[in-house]
Amino acid sequence: MARDTARDTSKVRVRFAPSPTGFLHIGGARTALFNHLFARHHGGAYLLRIEDTDRARSSQEAVDEILQGLAWLGLESDEAIVYQSAGQAQHAALAEELLARGAAYRCFATSEELDQMRQAAKAAGKPMRYDRRWRDRDESEVASKVAASTPFVVRLKAPLEGSVEIEDAVQGTVAVQASALDDMILLRSDGTPTYMLSVVADDLAMNISHVIRGDDHLTNAFRQTLLYRAFDKAPPVFAHIPLLHGADGQKLSKRHGAISVTEYRQAGILPEALCNYLVRLGWAHGDQEIFSRTEMEKLFSLEAVGKSAARFDSEKLEHLNAHWLRQAKPQSLAQEIIPRLNCPLDAEGQKRLIQALPSLVVRVSDLNALAHAAKVYLQAPDGFDDKGSKILSESASDLPARLVRAVEAVSQDNWHAEELEKALRLLAENHTLKFKAVAQPLRVLLTGTTISPPLFEMMEILGRTEVLHRLATAQDLLKARIP
Ligand code: GLU
Repeated sequence: MARDTARDTSKVRVRFAPSPTGFLHIGGARTALFNHLFARHHGGAYLLRIEDTDRARSSQEAVDEILQGLAWLGLESDEAIVYQSAGQAQHAALAEELLARGAAYRCFATSEELDQMRQAAKAAGKPMRYDRRWRDRDESEVASKVAASTPFVVRLKAPLEGSVEIEDAVQGTVAVQASALDDMILLRSDGTPTYMLSVVADDLAMNISHVIRGDDHLTNAFRQTLLYRAFDKAPPVFAHIPLLHGADGQKLSKRHGAISVTEYRQAGILPEALCNYLVRLGWAHGDQEIFSRTEMEKLFSLEAVGKSAARFDSEKLEHLNAHWLRQAKPQSLAQEIIPRLNCPLDAEGQKRLIQALPSLVVRVSDLNALAHAAKVYLQAPDGFDDKGSKILSESASDLPARLVRAVEAVSQDNWHAEELEKALRLLAENHTLKFKAVAQPLRVLLTGTTISPPLFEMMEILGRTEVLHRLATAQDLLKARIP
């Protein structure tokens, strides 16, 4: 036996094994995260295996997207990535070994014969089971078929009675009757290994101690257990985690909205928030909702993974994203939003952006909204919107000029939100106007609109030169309107 006890967590080696047939599904990302956390918790290794043996359905594009998504989430492999297709010759050799030991056999059943079995099963309302007609054939009969180059597949000699039991770390003890499992194919007639063989062969070669994956693979685990037995090796500990469901209780699919990691990234979700959200889908630590990565690694255990399907709740994700946005450093937020701005940014713009971010971030829950809100600091308005125009036309025609003078009176040394506010309050008092009646037009002149970050704080960050420049431009725009 390869390991003393399957429950031994002293040498944890886990793997995430996506098939590169499409994007990285958030359910897959959660599986990767659980594996990663489990490995970190036990000081073990987390590996990545790309299950690309189905050449027709696999693509390099999908591999790239999966790797990018994992890197973004901080879930990169601790060792060189294993590509399943690269090991096919070794996998086939293992099947040959079982054949030589009598644990597997050649099956020459033709496709017509298999069709007949399928139809008979269908007529009897039973699932198709290969009837093992080549399992105990006479050696000489097999030899003459081989000599005549008759095509064959290699099948595993599965037990004929008893049951196959799995002590699943999440599902508990699960068992099937051996009679429910037929003699699975290990090598196809072209000599290539089947998926079931490759998974076990790779998990053995990679010395995997725990297989943590979606519970859609639970039925495979029984057959895989038989293969471990045939190889005389202890199976890994299996932990089958329930799949994700949408709010309606159905398996999470495109119909429920974004399901690829890339879509969440594009929607302005932070990796910290997505991981925090994913860890709570199926795992709990009391009623705690916010977890840093370090905390997750410290607390994660398979015992605390629930058996029932977790429901996806996008509001909760938004809430967590808002939380993690507030925790992020302005420098790193700036790096995230610069590509989302679609406007050139000089050094002055970058400086302004970093100063503005702490106050902007408290009002948004994703990076796109943050980038949108930041634009007011980076781009002067090229006109006034309807509400803005209305405000300006309702105020005295000499108000813009008075506003400019009041603002100009604040020197560079005094250019702070409080001083600016004082100057404006004075202007309002001197003209017996309400404060709002001077503040709103000033906001419109500076931003083109009636909604903006707090006015004086914004003016402080924009800086004296930019504010005066914007006011001059706004006055020009107003003059150009007068017929
Ligand atoms: N390649 C399989 C999948 O993407 C995972 C197989 C496994 O984890 O054993 O669903």
